[in-house]
Amino acid sequence: MTKDETPSLVDFLVVGAGPVGLVTAILLGREGWRVTVVEKWPSRYPAPRACTIDHEALRILQGIGVMREHAELFEPSRGERGGYQMRNGAGELLRAINWNRPAESGWANTSGFYQPDLEAVLESLALTLPSVKLRRGCSAVAIDQDEDSVTLTVIGSNDHSQHDVLRGRWLVGADGANSVVRELTGIESIDTGFEADWLVVDYQPLDHRSWDAFVTQYCDPVQPATAVNSGPGRRRFEFMRRADVSAEELGRTATAWKLMAPWGVTPETARLERQAVYTFRGRWAREWRRGRIFLAGDAAHLMPPFLGQGMCSGLRDARALAWRLSLVESGRASASILESYGTERGAHVQEIIAEAVALGKVICELDPLKAAERDTGMRAALNDPETVTVEPPHPRLGQPSITEPGDDNAGRLSVQARVEAGGRVGLFDDVVGGAWRLIGLDVDPLVGVSAELRAWFAYLGGTATTLTVDGEVRDIDGAYRAWFEAHDCRLLLARPDFYIYGTGAAHDAARLLGDLRHALGVTVTSTNERNELIEKGTQP
Ligand SMILES: Cc1cc2nc3c(=O)[nH]c(=O)nc-3n(C[C@H](O)[C@H](O)[C@H](O)COP(=O)(O)OP(=O)(O)OC[C@H]3O[C@@H](n4cnc5c(N)ncnc54)[C@H](O)[C@@H]3O)c2cc1C
Repeated sequence: MTKDETPSLVDFLVVGAGPVGLVTAILLGREGWRVTVVEKWPSRYPAPRACTIDHEALRILQGIGVMREHAELFEPSRGERGGYQMRNGAGELLRAINWNRPAESGWANTSGFYQPDLEAVLESLALTLPSVKLRRGCSAVAIDQDEDSVTLTVIGSNDHSQHDVLRGRWLVGADGANSVVRELTGIESIDTGFEADWLVVDYQPLDHRSWDAFVTQYCDPVQPATAVNSGPGRRRFEFMRRADVSAEELGRTATAWKLMAPWGVTPETARLERQAVYTFRGRWAREWRRGRIFLAGDAAHLMPPFLGQGMCSGLRDARALAWRLSLVESGRASASILESYGTERGAHVQEIIAEAVALGKVICELDPLKAAERDTGMRAALNDPETVTVEPPHPRLGQPSITEPGDDNAGRLSVQARVEAGGRVGLFDDVVGGAWRLIGLDVDPLVGVSAELRAWFAYLGGTATTLTVDGEVRDIDGAYRAWFEAHDCRLLLARPDFYIYGTGAAHDAARLLGDLRHALGVTVTSTNERNELIEKGTQP
């Protein structure tokens, strides 16, 4: 890829080395782009916040090599009644959700993990990429942009007299809930009005006690609480602040021990790692882009953590943004596709925030009468107290989007399962891979596609695969067959972020690829054409 030779100009500046900034940098760095990440703290943030991760986020981490070497960081959900239980003050089961199931991305529906360990792995992966630089101890304080680039001023976090000016073609603000990038660009947030203070206590159990659920939400109006597995060898309790307790008192170590004592978690049975008080909120940015500047992760959205979706949503942002930026910067798509980053991601995350806030209102009810009414309603809905429900699939991408118009499957998450090819058995992305994946069930998906369109698809980083029971690439668990049959199609075109571009009948690939090319507003059609243009000195 051609890069600007100006020494001080990099392709991408990323503000914030939390999970979202690091994954963004890795995704872009793996494509050879020059990325500089600036991070306020001189060393890694030692305390965890996220402690559960979903299947889709694990697939994103799989794509950057985390799961190959570090799958042991993640402990799949287990326990009785699906692993996710909601109970009332009397301990009665109100709702059970199946978090223990294998999910459509090829990974456990939900796993526990320890955020500092994941961030350490992400940082080391980022630093193995020759084109990625991480500058710790630098705080972003000013941003300016023109038609071609963004200028970022940083100061030393410990020594404010030190300052430096960096330039990038684009900038991603992944600088967390109090985002300076959001503030400096004047982007407003829309607030749901939900607000609750919670004490979060992380500890290492010293006994071998087994908990009957992976997560239990104690919907007790006397003291709403959450108990959760937070990765191998660790657990967490969360307690809501009651009106008669100050935030300062809630944050004391003695309070943490007092609140955990009814569960037998005491200094004799546990080593306390830390306790902190957080205000849980639900809000999102009105805009996700200002010119060459984008927001991602907590900078763009915040949600109460009852569904474990904050970081997962941020990793989706990183994945959705990186493929667009890379295609645009390499001339393989027009800059117009960048608009759909915010429209797709905004609607998607707003639905998740609404669900997390609705769940929060159920869990955080402090009025005993309303809590009793809630319990009656939930009991009636449960019917059979042993019923274990399955959460609905993740929301569909918002519109306008880069998806096939009028296709009911488009904008939904695609499936990943095990395949066998060339004697190798593994998940599809590892065995076959590809940025864009065209898959045909029992058919060659490229039948009827012109040589020119095939070349363009290859240039885009696409792979075309025929999945069969006994062919070159075998659908060994029948998971793809089941998916195609349930969705009444034979072809699937999935994007680099695993969302479905479109589906169709056996001979629909020419239509799908032609429409995709149009949607990407592509200015060149193949590597040859691009090389010719470069030789002539004309950038496509
Ligand atoms: C109690 C709790 C429990 C949670 N549980 C879950 C869960 O189970 N699952 C889940 O998916 N999510 C969960 N979340 C949410 C999750 O922790 C966040 O969504 C995630 O950490 C956000 O990542 P990020 O990279 O966007 O932001 P951050 O992790 O906040 O990283 C932002 C980085 O930017 C840096 N920065 C800030 N300002 C500047 C500046 N001016 N210049 C340079 N650098 C700057 C910061 O130092 C920081 O390192 C939970 C959150 C909380 C509080």
